[in-house]
Amino acid sequence: MTAKGNLWRDSAGESISTVPLSGDVTADLCVIGGGFTGCSAALRAAGAGASVVLIEAETVGHGGSGRNVGLVNAGLWTPPEEITQLLPDQAAGFIARLGEAPAEVFRLIERHQIDCEPVRNGTLHLAHAEAGMADLRNRHRQQAALGAPVRLLDAAETRARTGTDGFHGALLDMRAGTVQPLGYARGLARAAIGAGARLHEMTPATAVRHEGGTWHVTTPGGTIRAGALILATNAYHRPFDGPGVPPVVIPSFFQAATAPLPEATLEAILPGGEGCWDTGLVMTSVRRDRAGRLILGAFGSMEAAGRGVHLAWARRKLAALYPALAGQAFTHAWSGRIAMTGDHLPKILRLGPRGLAAFGYSGRGIAPGTVFGAALAEALVSGSEDGLPLRPVDGHRDGFAGLRGAWIETGATLVHATGARF
Ligand SMILES: Cc1cc2nc3c(=O)[nH]c(=O)nc-3n(C[C@H](O)[C@H](O)[C@H](O)COP(=O)(O)OP(=O)(O)OC[C@H]3O[C@@H](n4cnc5c(N)ncnc54)[C@H](O)[C@@H]3O)c2cc1C
Repeated sequence: MTAKGNLWRDSAGESISTVPLSGDVTADLCVIGGGFTGCSAALRAAGAGASVVLIEAETVGHGGSGRNVGLVNAGLWTPPEEITQLLPDQAAGFIARLGEAPAEVFRLIERHQIDCEPVRNGTLHLAHAEAGMADLRNRHRQQAALGAPVRLLDAAETRARTGTDGFHGALLDMRAGTVQPLGYARGLARAAIGAGARLHEMTPATAVRHEGGTWHVTTPGGTIRAGALILATNAYHRPFDGPGVPPVVIPSFFQAATAPLPEATLEAILPGGEGCWDTGLVMTSVRRDRAGRLILGAFGSMEAAGRGVHLAWARRKLAALYPALAGQAFTHAWSGRIAMTGDHLPKILRLGPRGLAAFGYSGRGIAPGTVFGAALAEALVSGSEDGLPLRPVDGHRDGFAGLRGAWIETGATLVHATGARF
């Protein structure tokens, strides 16, 4: 059986309907990009009474927001002590803000009744080897010191929760959970429209400039003049004439999903519905969806030469973790691009007067993207940057970004081809 593409497109409970921009419009705020960042920004700004136009080159969730694993993580990949070293004067507030970010996501889902399969039963960071357990102990120590509801699980409890003895232990974080990511992105967009924002899909920005105190955004069907601009195009930035997202490392991550599994099988596999990822160098993710599919993920692209290698690895991995599922076909397989900055911290970039971009969540964009988008909107509508999670930077540079992205794909393909375990 040939696997279809993105599962989230087949199973999203939310849908929206918009038309491309036609004609010339004015607004307080123009948002470019319809992922978590852009939709959250549009929702917050419209909710505050601003007139908002959001344009999306394809459809809402076309980028990382409609392709990801759906882990609503608390905090970033980078552990708190490292963040403190990198941003000594900003770390405390930033870490606290992102620790609370999953609660904000689940509050929005509740408030706007977003149909996106929300499960808030924690996430499990799984130790793929004894060395991984040392990493988890270190992360646990740092998070517990901040008062986070985290717990280290031994191999037996990890086995009971995951249904596999493939892991040495786990770090359980009860702040976190999972969503159907495309449903969440579309739900934010629907809520933004409900709050008065105008959304135009199939409307790429082709030129952006600031002139006479106003942002001028050109699209194929019309123009937008706005007092403020948010650029939320991240790893899917489609270049245009004007200020853009600086080059960052952009590796791909893929997922493969089984058909819905029988109830009896599911009783033993992730019965609590935790979302999981492991400590391996070429990380593996595991989760279930509402229909009872098992979804495995890892670095690698489904749109490059390594597709067959990655899928063969996923079949072996599924059988190794869950022998009862050996030979189970994947009905869907897809991938997406992740924007990784050199220090794995997101950036807020100043584009010009009342113009900001946010990018580089480095694989942790559901909760941070929601928070960053809302904060950027708030700053631009209110005129005060005090509430931004990070101070804006005037530029960003990651050397050899393209080469490093290609290197990750090559490395993942090699690891998956040889079955090596790091
Ligand atoms: C496979 C994968 C797995 C991941 N897993 C997780 C996870 O489990 N948990 C987590 O928190 N994060 C995860 N992430 C990261 C997360 O998905 C991203 O950080 C997040 O989606 C970024 O959202 P965004 O709104 O900033 O950008 P995007 O969702 O990428 O949206 C950018 C949008 O801008 C549009 N655009 C681009 N150029 C233009 C233009 N010129 N004009 C108009 N529109 C334009 C694009 O079409 C796109 O829709 C994962 C990412 C991937 C790819």
